[in-house]
Amino acid sequence: MSEIRKVGVVGAGTMGNGIAHVFAKGGFAVRLCEVEQRFLDRGVETIRKNLGREMSKGKLTQEDADAALARIEGTLARTALGDCDLIVEAATEQLEVKRQIFEDLDRIAKPGVILASNTSSISITKLAAFTGRPERVIGMHFFNPVPVMKLVEVIRGLATAQETFDTVKALAERLGKTPVEVNDAAGFVSNRVLMPLLNEAMYAVMEGVATPEAVDQVFQLGMAHPMGPLTLADFIGLDVCLDIMRVLLEGLGDPKYRPCPLLIRMVDAGWLGRKSGRGFFVYDKS
Ligand code: NAD
Repeated sequence: MSEIRKVGVVGAGTMGNGIAHVFAKGGFAVRLCEVEQRFLDRGVETIRKNLGREMSKGKLTQEDADAALARIEGTLARTALGDCDLIVEAATEQLEVKRQIFEDLDRIAKPGVILASNTSSISITKLAAFTGRPERVIGMHFFNPVPVMKLVEVIRGLATAQETFDTVKALAERLGKTPVEVNDAAGFVSNRVLMPLLNEAMYAVMEGVATPEAVDQVFQLGMAHPMGPLTLADFIGLDVCLDIMRVLLEGLGDPKYRPCPLLIRMVDAGWLGRKSGRGFFVYDKS
């Protein structure tokens, strides 16, 4: 198995900052790479806040939180990832964005590196084919919020080597997570099953079957879901949900995956859920 010491994370948004957080807390040196300073600052500030929250719950000492934060180095230069042993891509869920990143990482990264993607739905085999080392490319799919959720879906692309898989599986365990092995198909298991549920809940609202509050209550009180599907969609981000539905539709070719027109309209309006202050529900942005 490959020895992993230095970890690069591409993207410091919702998922990227959480991934940097858990690796830094696990003792790894982390390079966190963004496209603009303000996104990097926002990501690091979120990590600081979340470490503080763990401290206030008695899960972490001040010393350990300070040490974790000190292990994270922010950068706007992708070339700074050249000496990383593992790079986890957690940038925007768009094939073109990820294609550029993987082509670039293939040029920059040292031999033996593992290139992982946190994509929710894009084919790992496709991302691997953007590089000259598909056997070292794998899906490492964390869940939101990363410091809290136990699951990591570990997705094998068609060409992923056993050694790459073993290294990533062991790494997820070292981070205190539970890896679950999944083969490469659009949406993997999690989003192939979850997203059509959220999408159908949106159709129910659009068709006037029930209000968003009522839809969520049905799932919370009737199925013991901790969060209703529309609150969950707002939490994930409606733009992210729409991107995933489009990938399912294209990748699996079945019209049952067509995105709900209400979802499309809301994303067009900039109502992206919790992060924009408004989705199916309204949020206090402070
Ligand atoms: P986000 O929009 O919160 O963050 C994406 C970040 O990537 C942004 O800060 C953006 O500036 C940055 N970025 C874009 N292009 C970049 C580039 N070329 N180099 C460096 N940074 C770049 O999105 P997110 O919710 O964190 O999603 C990131 C990935 O994680 C996506 O692939 C998504 O499907 C996946 N994912 C999301 C969730 C979720 O619940 N939000 C869960 C699991 C997986």
